[in-house]
Amino acid sequence: MDRLADIWVCEMEQYREYDKFAKCGKCELKAWCRGCPAVAKGTNGDFYAADPQCWKEVE
Ligand code: SF4
Repeated sequence: MDRLADIWVCEMEQYREYDKFAKCGKCELKAWCRGCPAVAKGTNGDFYAADPQCWKEVE
């Protein structure tokens, strides 16, 4: 059985390519925020699409 900590640290690393995030990749808040990829996936079918809940305008 995998430990949750091992999954979080190792297996989830593939989802931490922050520059792939369409909007958050260009945002100065990406180190702290990055929106909710689950909502982006559920809304747009794309894990890396912009989170529709985001309030910030990013150029
Ligand atoms: S403020 Fe918006 S664009 Fe910036 S990191 Fe958060 S969700 Fe992404």
